[in-house]
Order: sequence, then structure tokens, then C-alpha cells
Amino acid sequence: PFSTLADLIRAHARERGDRLALVCGGETLDYAGLDRAMDRVAAALQRDGIAPGTAVAILAVPSIAYMLAFLGALRAGCVPAPLSPSATPAQLGAMIADCGAPILFHDDANAAIDTAARRIALDGPAFGAWLAPGGTVPAPVAAGPDDPFNIIYSSGTTGTPKGIVQSHGMRWQHIMRAGAGAGFTDAVAMIATPLYSNTTLVLLLPVLGWGGTAVLMRKFEAGEYLRLAEAHRATHTMLVPVQYERVLAHPGFDAADLSSFRLKFCTSAPFSAEMKADALRRWPGALVEYYGMTEGGGTTILVAHLNPDKLHTVGKPVEGHDIRLIDEQGREVPQGEVGEVVGRSPAMMTGYHGRESATREAEWFDAEGRRFIRHGDLGRFDAEGFLTLVGRKKDVIISGGFNVYPADLEAVLAGHPDVADCTVVGVPSPQWGETPVGFYVPRDGAAADPATILEWTNDRLGRTQRLSALAPVDALPRSSIGKVLKRELRDRWEQAQ
Ligand code: ATP
Ligand code: MG
Repeated sequence: PFSTLADLIRAHARERGDRLALVCGGETLDYAGLDRAMDRVAAALQRDGIAPGTAVAILAVPSIAYMLAFLGALRAGCVPAPLSPSATPAQLGAMIADCGAPILFHDDANAAIDTAARRIALDGPAFGAWLAPGGTVPAPVAAGPDDPFNIIYSSGTTGTPKGIVQSHGMRWQHIMRAGAGAGFTDAVAMIATPLYSNTTLVLLLPVLGWGGTAVLMRKFEAGEYLRLAEAHRATHTMLVPVQYERVLAHPGFDAADLSSFRLKFCTSAPFSAEMKADALRRWPGALVEYYGMTEGGGTTILVAHLNPDKLHTVGKPVEGHDIRLIDEQGREVPQGEVGEVVGRSPAMMTGYHGRESATREAEWFDAEGRRFIRHGDLGRFDAEGFLTLVGRKKDVIISGGFNVYPADLEAVLAGHPDVADCTVVGVPSPQWGETPVGFYVPRDGAAADPATILEWTNDRLGRTQRLSALAPVDALPRSSIGKVLKRELRDRWEQAQ
């Protein structure tokens, strides 16, 4: 029979039950306790008639109770659907209806959500009262590799959230591959991103699958992150680029003892070569960048210290993954040219939940009929096979008939000493159709004015790439997982015209 993550946790509970599994906000739970609590959740779901294969929605900030709902649902053969508290009430209602969850686990901050699902509060005594009594053993449930493991809603960076169904087999691949080389068995992993995001789960689930400890932050704050990492002698972490920036810029960074770190991961948004170099120099342990999407497909990794001259890339496809770059007609582009990333791997989504046509649109097949997933990102391979991303397909600026890739411009603008953070978006232009406009956050104590930085940047860009305008902003609008919301900047710009 196929083993699942829930089975792995049981094995750790038997083998070394006093090992800490979860730490969050002063609470801790060892593997034996986690295993027993998962049984109580699973038995309660069975008591309530929630059949295997049924989605169970969770809407809350990280907590131990959150993890019990998630992992206990897995033990009952149910399908956790973790939702983003930063989605709008209308989106949340739509997501719960879309996955058909009869139950919603929520924290106090999300108690008011309008849904037909039965609510179960995770905070306070309600959750304990709902659990089956201690010592209850749920009826065993077997899951096969093709059965759904979880449903994750796409972040909606580029459109309406779609439910991405990941199977037990896909997760198993993830857990086994990620953990094998990374030493998760004695890991203490800092988890500082929200639990509904695949960014988080690609570290958290393998850590639990291999018997490591996860230290969860309810809310990320750089000083608190440093304090917890030091106190728990953290060995691993996954942060998004904007979090690296905040941690590295924190006044307490250089004094913090981070010598316990062995491996740090980064994913989910462009991570500048400068920042990677800074993290490599000042933060002990290896740095590995992942590029991939929740839908699965062609994941690449960049092991920074082994490739110091490739920090501007996202690395190469990992073993067992295949990436191709295609043009508008779906043909592969010659080496060195820009194309849309399509990728194939053992960890591809089954499909978008209940959206047959969206699933078909996301697929591409090679000449041998093998299935790939379209990533919606544009990239180019260098002569050594390292992938550089040049932006999302939807963000390409077509100016006077030329394709302008925002990432090329952002890399130049980011190199100005007075620019702390920046992005480039395309806005409508009567003359060019579209034209690039830059936004930047000035560095503290910056001397140069926007006009000077604009000129400096344009001097370093090709004639067709030049920025039409550059505006300072206090901060770039970002999603809760740190992705720049370019749509919002475009709208703001158009309203100001
Ligand atoms: P939606 O599909 O709803 O618009 P999303 O694409 O932002 O949301 P995810 O699947 O979480 O949701 O993110 C995958 C995307 O994140 C990739 O397609 C890519 O654009 C970006 N990304 C991931 N890793 C990296 C990386 N290392 N560098 C740059 N961009 C990255
Ligand atoms: Mg996407």
C-alpha cells in the first residue's frame, strides 16, 4: 500500500515520539502528540460524516491548531484546501463553493466569512471541544498516488484564483526528493510564509515527512524572525525575496548568531543577483533558489555558492524535470532566444479543480505527445543551460512593435545606488502603443532625484527599452507572498494621468 505523509508522521511518532514536530507562538507539539491529535481530528471528521476525498477548507494565520486541521484531514483521507486570508470575501466565498468544502476551519480574525460551510473555530476552546476524545482511533483510510492530496488556489497575481489539485503521488515526489539531500531528519526549519502557499508547503511538508521540527511564525517580522532563529538554532528556512531583504537590512542582523543555518531556500518572485550575493556573503549556510509554480512542472534550482557567476539566473532544471521554451505558435525557440517556459515533471498538478478548459489551456505537448505545463513566464537559456527569466508573459511591454522585457530594465534600475526596490510596468502610450514606466523605492538618505536616476538608467538601456517615466513610491504593492502587484501600479498610473 502507498504511504502518505500521515503515515510518515505516525512512523516518526513511533520511532522518536519526543522529537518536536511543531513550535508556534510559545506552544510546542512533539511527534507523539501530533500523531494522537491527528487521530482526534480524523475521528471527528469521520464522526461528522465527512467522507474521504472531500475538501476541507482552512482560513487562518499559522498556528498549531491549523496544522492539526490540515494533517488530521489528510489522515481521514480528506483534502485540505488552505485559503488566503488576504483574498476578498467574495473570492473566499467562491473558493469554498468551488472546492465544495462542507467544513471551514477558521481563526477569530476570519470568523465573519459568509459561507454555507459549517464553521469550526481554531482559536479558543471550540476546537478542543470539536475534537474526538483523546485515545479515539479513526477508521483507517488508504489513499492512492492519484488521489487528491490538497487543493491550493492560485494566488491570483494574474487573474481569478483557480483551484490547483495536487495528488498524493506528486506530494510524495516532493517530500522524498526535497528531503533526501537536504538533511531534514534533524532540521529545525523556520517557516515564515503563510500556510496556504505552496512556497511554504514545499519546505514544511518534507520537513515533517522526514521527522524534522518546524518553527512557525504567525506573522513575519524581521526582528522576531532573527530572535526565533537564534533561540531554536534554526538549520533551514524558506523566505521570499522581500523577506530576505528585510532580514538582511535589520539592524540586529550582524549581531545575531546564525551559525546553525545549513540551507536557506528562496522562491516565488524575482530575487536580484545583488541580494543573492549579499545573502551568500552575510548569512551562514548554503542558499538555494527554486523557480517553479504551484501547478508543478519544470522546477529549476540555483545553488548559489556553486554558481557565483550565475546569480542573475534561476539555475537549471532539477533531475527528472524537463523545461522547453516555446513561441506564440507553440514551437520551440532556438537556444539563446526568449520563449514561454513550459515544464514537465513527476510533480505536475492533476488539473484545475472543475475547470477542464483552463486545464487544457495550461497544457502543451511535445512531438512525442508528452504533457508539459505552461508557466506563463518568459525566459532564455544561456549556453550552459542556465535559465534567466525576463518577466511574465502578461507583463511584456510591446513598445513600437518591440518586445520589452521588464526584468531587463528592472535589473539596470536596481543597480542604481539610490534605488532600494523597483519594478517596471507597461502603460498605454498613444505614440508607442505601450511604453515602460518605472517605480522605485528610494534608499534611506538617497541623494539623487528621480530625473537623475531616470537619465542614469536610460543611458544603460537599449534605444527601444528606455523608460518614459520614473516615479518614487513609499513601497511597492505586494501580495501576501511578496509578489509585486504590477496590475495595481498600472491602474494607479492610468488614474493619475
Ligand atoms: P497566478 O497564477 O494566480 O497568477 P502565481 O503565478 O503568482 O499566481 P504561483 O504558482 O505561486 O502563483 O507562482 C508561480 C510564479 O511565481 C511563476 O510562474 C513565476 O512567475 C514566479 N516565480 C516563482 N519562482 C520564481 C523565481 N525563483 N524567480 C522569479 N519568479 C519566480
Ligand atoms: Mg501562475
